[in-house]
Amino acid sequence: MGMKRPQLLVRNPMQITVKVINMLSFLHMGFRLRIIDAHVHLDRVPGEDLERMAMCGVEGCVIPTPHVVLGVLEPEDLCDIIRRLLDFEVPRGRHFGIEAFVAVSVPFYGVVKADQCLRKITKYLENERVVAIGEIGMDAGSEEEERLFRAHLRMAKDYDKPVIIHTPVPEDPRKVEVTKKIIEIAKQEGFDLRNVVLDHTGFESLDMCLNSGAMVGLSVCYDKLTPQDAAEIVKKYDGERLIINSEFGFGKGGYFSVPRVVLEMRKKNIDPKTIERIVFTNPKTLFRLQI
Ligand SMILES: [Zn+2]
Repeated sequence: MGMKRPQLLVRNPMQITVKVINMLSFLHMGFRLRIIDAHVHLDRVPGEDLERMAMCGVEGCVIPTPHVVLGVLEPEDLCDIIRRLLDFEVPRGRHFGIEAFVAVSVPFYGVVKADQCLRKITKYLENERVVAIGEIGMDAGSEEEERLFRAHLRMAKDYDKPVIIHTPVPEDPRKVEVTKKIIEIAKQEGFDLRNVVLDHTGFESLDMCLNSGAMVGLSVCYDKLTPQDAAEIVKKYDGERLIINSEFGFGKGGYFSVPRVVLEMRKKNIDPKTIERIVFTNPKTLFRLQI
């Protein structure tokens, strides 16, 4: 009677709904953002950096076979490289809390007997840790590169694997021309571009890559994009088909490219769902990762 009716916390149900959503996304983003680094040369990452990557939320990664190797590689040497990734880097990643997956390919610089190499690597395609073929593609745009690229695409089609495509570094004057050729070849081969990530995309080739229907990889690394560049691109375009990766990282600055881009995206108020899509859902879907 004399008591006041307790004031309802909710005056406007819409307001509370928005609050709850914000709170949940804060909790989700603050403590549970899951990250996949979609292209990292883990064999170059020291153990202490691996631990820090895991502490930043990197739960999974894809290690491609490099497109360049030093020296001259016989088919058996290539198998050694791939076996090292599978038998050493995958368990090492797991030791530090990162589930590592592997992409196999024949490097386009440094191998001899490319055809024999191609035949040799097929045996790894049945391995459950081998989730893609890569990195493949072209760098100088030569006929030899093109021949190998087409052979890789056919193999990926036969084995139903997505592909990681290397494109020239952003400062390469041939970047746009070679990237255009890469997209044309993939189309000529009838390869489904939804199973492609066009990696190392820079500002110059961004529109072309986004319009191709492929996933677009932003490599945040010393000779490619900065974390700020990547966040700017996400802000300008939507994140529907973008993926972030660290490639070779920043030398002494470590391999924290993806967490750094997350931080930059948060600073730019990019919505948590978009961030999650770019750093987790997109790579998980493309590579069909079981994590
Ligand atoms: Zn690479």
